[in-house]
Amino acid sequence: MGSDWETVIGLEIHAQLATRSKIFSGSPTAYGAPPNTQANLVDLGYPGVLPVLNAEAVRMAIKFGLAIGARIATHSVFARKNYFYPDLPKGYQISQYELPIVAHGALEILLDDGARKRVGITRAHLEEDAGKSLHEGLARWTGIDLNRAGTPLLEIVSEPDLRSAREAIAYMKKVHTLVRYLEICDGNMQEGSFRCDANVSVRRRGATQLGTRAEIKNVNSFRFVERAIQYEVARQIELIESGGKVVQETRLYDPDRGETRSMRTKEEANDYRYFPDPDLLPLAVPRSLIEEVGRSLPELPDQKAERLASQYGLTEYDASVLTASRELASYYEEVVRETRGDPKLAANWVMGELAAALNRDGLDIGRSRLPPAGLARLLARIADATISGKIAKEVFEAMWASGRDADAIIAERGLTQITDTSAIERVIEEVLAKNPGQLAEYRSGKDKLFGFFVGQVMKATQGKANPGQVNELLRRKLSS
Ligand code: ADP
Ligand code: MG
Repeated sequence: MGSDWETVIGLEIHAQLATRSKIFSGSPTAYGAPPNTQANLVDLGYPGVLPVLNAEAVRMAIKFGLAIGARIATHSVFARKNYFYPDLPKGYQISQYELPIVAHGALEILLDDGARKRVGITRAHLEEDAGKSLHEGLARWTGIDLNRAGTPLLEIVSEPDLRSAREAIAYMKKVHTLVRYLEICDGNMQEGSFRCDANVSVRRRGATQLGTRAEIKNVNSFRFVERAIQYEVARQIELIESGGKVVQETRLYDPDRGETRSMRTKEEANDYRYFPDPDLLPLAVPRSLIEEVGRSLPELPDQKAERLASQYGLTEYDASVLTASRELASYYEEVVRETRGDPKLAANWVMGELAAALNRDGLDIGRSRLPPAGLARLLARIADATISGKIAKEVFEAMWASGRDADAIIAERGLTQITDTSAIERVIEEVLAKNPGQLAEYRSGKDKLFGFFVGQVMKATQGKANPGQVNELLRRKLSS
């Protein structure tokens, strides 16, 4: 199985735009309010009320479009997508259909082998979110919470360019990073601010036509998207190989069982009876607005990664990890500035010890227990040979736990590295005197025992002897 088949994936990502009010009404969009306290007559779909477009949502869509090198439509149209569902009281969702505000963009992803791949973005359109059905804690009812109804969404539709679950995740993360850089979406996946439908099909390698796809709805974590795709690919291949046929349908991913299940057969576009919303004028975006938004763009993730790589001599991979968020990149750059030291050392520590500690405590970089200046002072003590890299890890843990300064911990615990040649020589003498058997073996040609002696010296000094010096002095001693 597997290698005869090619996987084809296209993602539809829904990013909630971080406006304060809704896309067509003045209700607040803040998450977590008691049910139905943030829905007004427009959101409830009362007759006789009129939607008024939120200009900030339009600016945000333009911002995204410019950041992916897309075409921004100076003329786009809001349409009604008609369907019945309890969390959609109007009976239609206002979306953009034939003329979206953003079209023909692309993003580049970094593949596992270090190559880059361009992923086409067909379109990104503005639409309103629906409400939510609530089941938890309600034994015999379904609750309807319309707080989310009318929250602005940017739906970002990729070309079917992705060829594996790994690529899909790399792309999804790239979009996630970008919307946060642009500050158009908070990216909070638990709260549903950033979610994705994955369209998945398989075909025989070399085939030119696309296979029939299944659409996996509303997956809201990177890990689940990856697993859902893997499961779905295996299911489709097995189905076809055993003589069956994939049907176009909508499926749901069940994280508890790790499988996808059929939800309904897929609607065709014409089932929705799209038509231009007569309550809303076509959206005219003046050139001057596009230019103004263009001038407000921050340094974008790719630009930042490229700059970090060249400015600090980092690998492309390290630069891409360190630019996963603006906050992480600025933390890193501050560490480098503060130490005026080795940028590669700083990169290793930020991506290594610091990332591990944050991860362990479930914190993001903005809430690090260790400010950049604190980490910088620790790294400076490695650079000036006060402590070894290994001891530094111990100091780091103590700093993380107590919030105290590196120097205070080094002094209090007596961790200062021993760099005094005669002191190290004394320890070497002792070690050799205590291990006459090993010494004789070494002298008779068992070179491997060199490491044993280094280890004994480090042990005798509680790891505080400067390892470079130990090696050199020991070598000198043994060859004399
Ligand atoms: P719909 O309007 O029904 O959602 P679209 O044609 O707009 O369908 O495509 C939605 C998504 O599905 C896009 O991301 C697209 O790349 C992807 N897609 C389309 N056909 C396939 C296919 N055969 N296999 C995988 N993905 C596909
Ligand atoms: Mg779709």
